[in-house]
Amino acid sequence: ALERTQTAQRLESLGQLAGGIAHDFNNLLAIILNYSQFAAEQIPTDSEARDDLARVLRAAERARRLTHQLLVFARSERTEPAIIDLNDVVAEANDLFSRTLGGHIQLVTRTGEQPTTIIADRSSIDQVLFNLVINARDAMPDGGVLVMEVDHVEISSDEVGYAPPPLSGRYIRLTVNDTGTGMAPEVVNRVFEPFFTTKAKHEGTGLGLATVYGIVTDAGGSIRIASELHVGTTFSVLFPAAEVSDQPTATVADRPTAHGNGE
Ligand code: ADP
Repeated sequence: ALERTQTAQRLESLGQLAGGIAHDFNNLLAIILNYSQFAAEQIPTDSEARDDLARVLRAAERARRLTHQLLVFARSERTEPAIIDLNDVVAEANDLFSRTLGGHIQLVTRTGEQPTTIIADRSSIDQVLFNLVINARDAMPDGGVLVMEVDHVEISSDEVGYAPPPLSGRYIRLTVNDTGTGMAPEVVNRVFEPFFTTKAKHEGTGLGLATVYGIVTDAGGSIRIASELHVGTTFSVLFPAAEVSDQPTATVADRPTAHGNGE
């Protein structure tokens, strides 16, 4: 237990350090972006220097996205757990994604009649769903079907294939399914590693699923992946179910979780 605490503390200070560096970097990048923009506007349109500056701008823009992801990953912003209903989260996401995913992807959303309440920070859960949906979209460059679903599940014993395995109990399950490229087993095994990506250099940071993993385990949940090459992928995220009557002041840290906090 002592070892685990030390590791957790080390990770936390590492996270704070990374967050601090990312923050300073972000400020410097803002200067680079602003002045490259100003400079680009003063250069004649037929000059080659415009292309050079456009490259600087694109690289700085990409660096800014990366530092933003790092900031979120280091979770330097404090989260505020509250009772939220995943049906609402998915319904709102449906509004957003039905306008932004593109016509080649058919979006299907299934929510239940019963409340699907969990205790978590709303913006973190938005981010979990956002990252899963963007990955599903990226896996279907030629189009396909993307399904978002929320339902209730009862876990009776530790199940295999979840990271980490859930304790027995009542869970709300958030599922994102795509008919995309699928993943080979050696990719599935590495998807939660920070900076692991198979996407082109300018598209992937490899921080999306590492962030998802951090947020979900913080909320006492777990994740299952089912994937088949050329068929598609399903990410199932389990969150401990909360009663609407649960203390809204209860913080996630006070709840027993799959890694056995609460000793
Ligand atoms: P990024 O999206 O920046 O690559 P992620 O951590 O979100 O980083 O994902 C890591 C890798 O996992 C992706 O590069 C991709 O290879 C794989 N992956 C994630 N979701 C899917 C999916 N739905 N279908 C196929 N591959 C996926």
